[in-house]
Parts: sequence; C-alpha cells; structure tokens
Amino acid sequence: MQTIEFNHEWKMRLLNRFLAYVKIYSTSDPESETTPSTERQWDIAKYIFQELQDLGLADVSMDENGYIMAYVPSNIPENEPTVGFIAHYDTSPDFKGEHVNPQIWDDYNGGDLVLNAATGFTLSSEKFPSLKKYVGKTLITTDGTTLLGADDKAGVAEIVTAAEYLLAHPEIKHGRIAIGFTPDEEIGRGAHKFDVKKFGAEYAYTMDGSEVGELEYENFNAAGAVVKINGLSVHPGYAFGQMKNAGLLAVEFAQMLPANETPATTKGFEGFYHLMEIKGDVSEAKLQYIIRDHDADKFENRKKFINEKVAEFNAKHGENTAEIEIKEQYRNMKQQFEGKMHIVEIAEQAMKDANIEPKIKAIRGGTDGAQLSYMGLPCPNIFAGGENFHGPYEFVALESMEKAVKVIVNIAKAKK
Ligand SMILES: [Zn+2]
Repeated sequence: MQTIEFNHEWKMRLLNRFLAYVKIYSTSDPESETTPSTERQWDIAKYIFQELQDLGLADVSMDENGYIMAYVPSNIPENEPTVGFIAHYDTSPDFKGEHVNPQIWDDYNGGDLVLNAATGFTLSSEKFPSLKKYVGKTLITTDGTTLLGADDKAGVAEIVTAAEYLLAHPEIKHGRIAIGFTPDEEIGRGAHKFDVKKFGAEYAYTMDGSEVGELEYENFNAAGAVVKINGLSVHPGYAFGQMKNAGLLAVEFAQMLPANETPATTKGFEGFYHLMEIKGDVSEAKLQYIIRDHDADKFENRKKFINEKVAEFNAKHGENTAEIEIKEQYRNMKQQFEGKMHIVEIAEQAMKDANIEPKIKAIRGGTDGAQLSYMGLPCPNIFAGGENFHGPYEFVALESMEKAVKVIVNIAKAKK
C-alpha cells in the first residue's frame, strides 16, 4: 500500500493552520441559549468557511447556526458511500481562551518547559509523565495564561489539511468525503442542530480524542434520578412519635445505594450511581443522582434497583415518604454499530497502515458522536492528538496532528 508523503511544506501548512485557529477567541458559554452560544464563535466560523472556499472544496456552506459543511468530490467511478469527518471549533469555558499565545518547542528534550518566564509557569515532565513520549518532537504549548484549544482546533486543522491534501493528490482514489464543523460541543450542544440529512454521509468520525491511537465507539448509557423525601415538621420539643425529619431520612436513603458503585470506586466498564447533590430540611429533602453503565441490561437493572430501594424505604417509613423521578439522558452509541462494525474496523486498519497502534477505549461519559449516532449518523471518535485539555497545561505535538491527517487520508481511500 502506498504510504503518504507528508513533507516539510505540508507539515508547515498544518502547523500554521492550527496556530491561526488557536489565536481566534471562540470560547462557548453554557448560560447562553443562542446557537452559537457566543457571538465570537462567528469569527472562527467565518474564517474556516472562507478558507474552505479558497481551498476549492465543493458545496461549502454555513447555516444560520454556524454549522459548516463542505465536500471533497469522489474521483472514482464506483458508488462508494460518503464518509464524513467532524470537529468542533469552540473551546471550553472551563478556562480562559482569549489571547492564546502558542509557544513552539522544536526537538523537545524531555525536560521541563518554562511556559512563562514572568510567572515561572512550567509544564513539568514529573507532573505529566506522558511528556516523555514526545522526546524529539515539536510541541505546541500555551504561555501558561490560557488554554491552548487543541481541543478541538487540532481536529479542525487535521480535517482541513487532509481535505487539501486529497485535492492536491488526485492519484489517491477515494469516494465522496464530507467534512463538518460545529459550534458549542464543549457545552454539550455540538450535535443539537447538526443537519444529518444535509451532511449526506453514511457514517462519520469525530476527530476529537486525545492521544495518538485513541478510537472510541462506546460511551455510557445515562439517566438522571431525583429522589424527593417528604418529611413532617413538628416543634422539636413536642415531636415525640410525630416528626419525620426529611434531612435525616435523605441521609438514610443515600446509604441504601452500594458504596462501591460510585465514580470514585469504579473504572473501565464498571457503572455507578453518583449522588450529585443532596439538600433539604425537616420538611423536605432532595437527592439528585446520575446513573451510568455501558451495558444496556445492567443499566436497566440499575434503574430497577433504585426504584426497588424507594419501595423498600416507603415500606419502612410510610407510603409516599420518598418519590422518585428517572429521566433518560443519552445512550451508548455501541448499540448503533450492531451489524456495522466495519465502520470501526476501517478506522483501526487506517491507523495500522499509518504505523499507529489503535487503542480502543470506552468513554466514561457522552460525546457528540453518541448523539449523532442516535440521529442516524454512526460516528466513532478518533484521536486529535492533544493532551491535558481545558487548562493551561494543554499541549499537542505537530507529529501527532500529522498522524491524524494520515489516518483521515487512509480512511478516505479505504475500500468501503
Ligand atoms: Zn473536544
């Protein structure tokens, strides 16, 4: 199989594209109800939109919500399915994303990187042992005062560069490639207004993971549960045999759920009950839980279990002492890959062909890809290369982004 030549000129294109994106302020805002959630996201959306037009991509569009779509037309006569690649251009509201001043470290020596001479802010290899993997690479870091935004501008830069590469190399044969960029992923709304039908892909990949090799097609099944405890308030001096203290009862209820099935005591494929909030007084108390499990049956059993505990509790303390309301939140996208595992296998093979060892992991959370999968667009998640997301220690290696470009090109040219 022909390997992709990615010479110095292409590396510089990828690097400069990424640097241009991270300098554009595009933090999203969970308090806002508009799409995009912030006006400033239009700055980067318009920049990318113009760039895609200048590169000569086909059918470049940007809708009223800031969703950008474009295509690399097929260059083969066969009827191959359209395959999509998706990334988000907002950055996390968890940390400052304005005035990003990226630092470039060529030929990293494995030691500490003083990101900011004035403050002494340092990316230390002792604190972040994963840095050792990057000896000899070109690292891009922050100046210690902002996040970097490799999450997910690395993904955007990789997809745009891969599209440019395919257009420049007509000898690489491929079907139609769809590319899509979204606002507001960091506030959980990246997929909300994504027009799956217009996108027209049979399946897609989000380029939004971390380390090289990451490939994810499983996430949690998720529900929220609110348990309300109804107490009875009586003057404490005259409460004998009468008072029902909802606050105390809430504490009792919390202890009826297994102590070894919480976020702090589980990992990998183990599910949990997570008490997010408990509040109350004598007359009323509320416990807010989230329930998570990768396995659909175990997830159903967890919901049944918490219902049974409420019944048990009421049998002891009186009818309607506790009331429960369970709300579904999202589902494991794995269920959408039944009979379609070739979508995952194509990505695995594309990595192997680029000398990357695939690392298949289950996400302990949700993703935009999971939402898209339930909207009819099966969508595993692939690494974008960055590490330490959402804070001042965020960094990415140019070589990791280059590997992601190669994976995209390999997927594009794979026989479907
Ligand atoms: Zn992301």
